[in-house]
Amino acid sequence: FDLRNEDLKDLQELGQGNGGSVKKVEHTPTGTIMAKKIVLIDAKPSVRKQILRELQIMHDCNSKYIISFWGAFLADPNICICMEFMDKGSLDGIYKKIGPIDIDVVGQVALAVLEGLTYLYDVHRIIHRDIKPSNILCNSRGEIKICDFGVSGELINSIADTFVGTSTYMSPERIQGAQYTVKSDVWSLGISLIELALGRFPFSESSSDDSDLSDFESTLSPARPGSISLNGLPPSRPRIKTAKKDKKDKRKSKGVSLQGGGMTMSILELLQHIVNEPAPRLTPEGRFPREAEEFVDSCLLKDPDVRKTPKDLLKSIWIEQARVSHIDLETWASTF
Ligand code: ATP
Ligand code: MG
Repeated sequence: FDLRNEDLKDLQELGQGNGGSVKKVEHTPTGTIMAKKIVLIDAKPSVRKQILRELQIMHDCNSKYIISFWGAFLADPNICICMEFMDKGSLDGIYKKIGPIDIDVVGQVALAVLEGLTYLYDVHRIIHRDIKPSNILCNSRGEIKICDFGVSGELINSIADTFVGTSTYMSPERIQGAQYTVKSDVWSLGISLIELALGRFPFSESSSDDSDLSDFESTLSPARPGSISLNGLPPSRPRIKTAKKDKKDKRKSKGVSLQGGGMTMSILELLQHIVNEPAPRLTPEGRFPREAEEFVDSCLLKDPDVRKTPKDLLKSIWIEQARVSHIDLETWASTF
């Protein structure tokens, strides 16, 4: 049906992202509950209309691993995207509430994301481009679905123009300026799975600096325009905020501190770390099933040429096991 902003009653704020905000709304003529994403776009009317046209592809995205789409419309100066409401929210919210996610559930997440990515690519030639826990949603039926995929080239451009994000799930090759491929999504999936299983962002464990935050700030080299440039823009210097500095955990280190020990790391430093250091792993060794460790390692091969595609990864042992597992996600989802 035809969606109009006047017919949508705000019920609840679901969250704020970098690109906009998401609200739970009721479509009053039908009583349908939806999630309405409001994206502020600083673009010409012709570009907005083009974005709206491109978003219509989402009507044809029918998979149980993909959030369904109700429609999109312009509400100047915003674009509103109405999608299926997932009552258990995103997996980042879930692990922040209940702690590390059981590895068997993580296996189901991996299966759902790979199926979703394979569907998007095989059927629509769409690359997701933004796989991360906040874009993997869950409902009380125990369904896991992905959202916020890159259907609209114009929308991607418009957002990139106005925002340089905390692109922390970005693959090494993307950071170095290579084209996006489905394999970049695989890297992001690997990072996301570790985050869910450990209950924290995986680039956080390494080192912790014992200098004061202000010292740390002053030792940073200034952002050099053009040194690393996302989307062709000079790097901005957003910082990854972390928990309060933990005085007890003062391991000496090389000076770069990552998230977790209570320090911040600039986006630039994190990007350099992703490119130059070994990929994170499911650790400590032996805590998780070997098949899970091997799967994550294969997602996080730094060379995209040897990294597999989502379709190939569906044949992994761990994923085959997930497919025949009798785990009841509906019961799992009823615990939070
Ligand atoms: P970013 O803007 O960097 O992609 P994000 O994914 O957290 O970050 P949004 O996409 O704006 O930002 O989403 C904000 C929050 O809204 C999400 O974290 C999620 O918890 C919630 N959300 C998004 N879509 C839905 C949905 N369809 N159903 C329920 N909750 C949703
Ligand atoms: Mg999102």
